[in-house]
Amino acid sequence: MNCYYCGTELIHKGDNRLDNDDEYRDIYDMVTYLKCPRCGATVETYRRPIHVISKLHTVREKDAS
Ligand SMILES: [Zn+2]
Repeated sequence: MNCYYCGTELIHKGDNRLDNDDEYRDIYDMVTYLKCPRCGATVETYRRPIHVISKLHTVREKDAS
């Protein structure tokens, strides 16, 4: 994954599981931290748990029909 601002390859800084986090576990199950070695930008990506992804697909299929 490259930096949104300068296009440099980002460095993986770490992951945090969110399954045990009351605030997040129904929406995201993991957060990944990335950092740009060139411009210093910080990126956090939040992963959707599989049950949420399948729910999103169901909604999309319903909209299509
Ligand atoms: Zn950058």
